[in-house]
Amino acid sequence: INGASPVSGNDACHVTVRMRPLTESEESQNNACVWEVSDEHNRITLNQDFADKNRKTASDYFFDAVQVGSDNKDLYEDSARDVVRAAMEGINGTVFAYGQTASGKTYSMMGVNEEPGVIPQAVEDIFTFIRDQSGDREFLLRVSYLEIYNETIRDLLSPEQNDLRIHEDRKRGVFVAPLKEEIVTSPKQVMRVIRKGEENRHFGATDYNEHSSRSHTIFQMVIESRERTASGAASPRIGGPGPPRPRGTVMISQLNLIDLAGSEKATTDVARRTEGAFINKSLLTLGTVISKLTDGKIATGSHIPYRDSKLTRILQSSLSGNARISVICTISPAGPNVEETQNTLKFASRVK
Ligand code: ADP
Ligand code: MG
Repeated sequence: INGASPVSGNDACHVTVRMRPLTESEESQNNACVWEVSDEHNRITLNQDFADKNRKTASDYFFDAVQVGSDNKDLYEDSARDVVRAAMEGINGTVFAYGQTASGKTYSMMGVNEEPGVIPQAVEDIFTFIRDQSGDREFLLRVSYLEIYNETIRDLLSPEQNDLRIHEDRKRGVFVAPLKEEIVTSPKQVMRVIRKGEENRHFGATDYNEHSSRSHTIFQMVIESRERTASGAASPRIGGPGPPRPRGTVMISQLNLIDLAGSEKATTDVARRTEGAFINKSLLTLGTVISKLTDGKIATGSHIPYRDSKLTRILQSSLSGNARISVICTISPAGPNVEETQNTLKFASRVK
């Protein structure tokens, strides 16, 4: 980042806004894109004519990047690659997709066959990294996949575990148990595990789309690596027996790739309202937690409200300390979505 924008340059949290193309049905209803993006791709502003006609303010929003017409490869390079690479070096990382339903969260995180999203690209990247490193570290990779729906945590890899608890101890920090973790050795295997988890999301849900738009999914990879000692423990050493050689250092980090529940305001239906209240609470708490974490002026020991939602509580260990966070805020270009888009841009401004 070259410092051209007044607000960029926060290393701990990177914010990308991604505007999807108009959908066919939006186009067939004569919708056009009502947003304008600067040539530098870091500013987005509501179109002045549209703003005037609809009595809205056309204020500028600045971000690390605003992507229009990008493909998932650009998205990965811009928003996730550095976080993934840092995770390979022992630094916890989390990538979120935030936005209203149908704005492109799942397209961005999971992608489609022709255009794999952040998750499959991260998985490929990790295995490529391991293959290309000089062999002086050995890696152990474990994945888990869970869903938070109505403040209930469900293990997608072990669907009978549908009310997981959050625990905390000195050694492990905050963790979910009993959580199924699969040890994985190839990208293909990881994608098989994810597919299995996706199938389990259908289980018990009458409407898959409805359900998936009301739940947060967390794909987590635990990356553990150990330095290989030069030539094994029994190798003779110059200078006699001496003290034991230190064992290879161990690094362990968590990488969370998260498709959040839709950020739109809940509808009027009563049941929906309860879900909506949980969702609003957890997304609001997420915003507060990240903005507190990334506020450089914050006094150490200041209260960060991790406990206010399951989502932030689960992520407590991953987010605190020397962690990397990337937020991908997905938006629709169309006029009828302007209010929700503005809400998303406000969230994005809060966390950056
Ligand atoms: P969400 O997960 O936020 O509810 P989806 O990812 O399911 O939204 O996207 C809604 C629709 O828009 C899907 O049909 C998807 O294929 C399409 N879409 C979303 N983002 C893009 C994009 N960047 N390029 C092309 N189509 C997209
Ligand atoms: Mg989705």
